[in-house]
Amino acid sequence: MALIVQKYGGTSVGDLERIERVADRVKATRDAGNDVVVVLSAMGGETDRLLELARQVSDRPARRELDVLLATGEQVSIALLCMSLARKGCAARSFTGGQARIRTDTSHTKARIQGIDVDALRSALGESQVAVVAGFQGVDEAGNITTLGRGGSDTTAVALAAALEAEECQIYTDVDGVYTSDPRVVPDARRLETITFEEMLELASLGARVLQIRAVEFASKYKVKLRVLSSFEEGEGTLITSEDATMEQPLISGVAYNQDEAKLTVKGVPDRPGIAAALLGPIAEANIDVDMIVQNVSEDATTDVTFTVHRSDYEAAFELLQRHARDMNAREVTGDDRIAKISLVGVGMRSHAGIASRMFATLAAESINIQMISTSEIKISVVVDEKYLELGVRALHAAFGLSEGPVLDEAIKS
Ligand code: ADP
Ligand code: ASP
Ligand code: MG
Repeated sequence: MALIVQKYGGTSVGDLERIERVADRVKATRDAGNDVVVVLSAMGGETDRLLELARQVSDRPARRELDVLLATGEQVSIALLCMSLARKGCAARSFTGGQARIRTDTSHTKARIQGIDVDALRSALGESQVAVVAGFQGVDEAGNITTLGRGGSDTTAVALAAALEAEECQIYTDVDGVYTSDPRVVPDARRLETITFEEMLELASLGARVLQIRAVEFASKYKVKLRVLSSFEEGEGTLITSEDATMEQPLISGVAYNQDEAKLTVKGVPDRPGIAAALLGPIAEANIDVDMIVQNVSEDATTDVTFTVHRSDYEAAFELLQRHARDMNAREVTGDDRIAKISLVGVGMRSHAGIASRMFATLAAESINIQMISTSEIKISVVVDEKYLELGVRALHAAFGLSEGPVLDEAIKS
C-alpha cells in the first residue's frame, strides 16, 4: 500500500461542486488501495478577502492576529471536504495545522516549519481514514497559530510527504503542469514533462507562482517525488526531478516574470568603502528583503546605488533611505514602483554563452528599455517598465522557440 499526499489549491476547492470533484478524486485514490493524506488551500479568493477585512480594520494589524484570521480559510475547506467524503462513504478526518502537529518558528505570516510529529496523522491512516490537513498553517512552541506565507499550502504538502516518507506528493492546481511560461500570459507556452529541482527553484523564486519556493527547497532536500497536475483533467502533469546526467539538458526551460517589486535609487553618494553597507544596513534591520543591487562607477567621487525590494516594502524603504541619505550627503533618492522583472531560466545556460545578448537584442527589437540586469549560472533577469511585461515575456518566449520543443545546445549554435 502506497502513501500519497495530494494538495489541492484555491481554485480546485473554489466552490462546493469543485470540492465534490476533489472528494471523488481522493476517494478513487483511496479505493485503488492507497493511504491518502490531503492538504487543502482555502477556497479561491478567501485569503485575499480575509486580508482585505483586516486592512479595513487596521493599517498595521498585529501579525499574530492576522495569522489567527488567515488560518480560518483553510479550516472551512478541510471540514467541507471531510463532510463530502463521508457522504460518499469514505472515512476522513480533518486536521488543523496544530492538530497535525506542524510546528513552526514564531515569525508570523512567514513562519518556517521546524518539525512535524506524524503520530496523529499515522493513527488516522491506521484507522483507514483519509487525513485532510489544513495547508499554510502551523503552531509555534507556545501554541500560537502561524502561517507559512502566500502559497504556503504547497510547503505543507511537501513537508508532510517528507515526514511521512510518502511515495509521491501531487500538487493539483488549475493548470496541468509546469509550463515554459505562465500560460495566462503566453498562450502557446508548452507543458514540461519534467523539470529539475534547480530550475523549478529559480522559476519559483523569479515569480512563477505555480509552486511556493519553500516547497521546492524542501522537496529537493528530502528527495520528495513531486508532481504538478490539473485537478480538472487527467494527465501526467510535470514531474520535478533531480538533475540526471544522461538527460538531454534544454538550454532554456522557461521565462518567468515578477510584478511584485519596486526599484529605489540613491544618487550621488560619496564613493568610499562602507557605503553599500551604510545604505542597506537599515533596510535589512527593518526586515526588508533586497533583491537586485546595482552600483555604478563614476568619475566625480560619487556613485549611484539602485536596488529592488518587494512592492509592499517600497514606501517604508523610501522613507528609510531618505533619512539615511541625508546623513551620508547623497544627492537624492528616487524610486519607481511600476517595474517588472523578466527572467530566462535554464540549466543549459551554464555551458553556453550568447544567451544574454540574444535576450537583450530581442527586447531591443521591441523597443523595450532594460533598467537593470542580473545573472546567475542558470538565469538572466532584467527589470523593465511594467507596461512592457507581457510584450517582453511573449517576445522572449518566441525568440527562444520555447513553444516548439526543448531548445538544445545544437539549435542555438546553428
Ligand atoms: P493554486 O491555487 O492551485 O495553488 P496558483 O495560482 O498558486 O494555484 O498557481 C497556479 C498558477 O500559476 C497558474 O494558474 C498559472 O497562471 C501560474 N503560473 C505562473 N507561471 C507558471 C508556469 N511556468 N507554469 C504553470 N503555471 C504558472
Ligand atoms: N490560502 C493561502 C494563500 O492564498 C495558502 C495557499 O493557498 O497555498 O496564499
Ligand atoms: Mg499556489
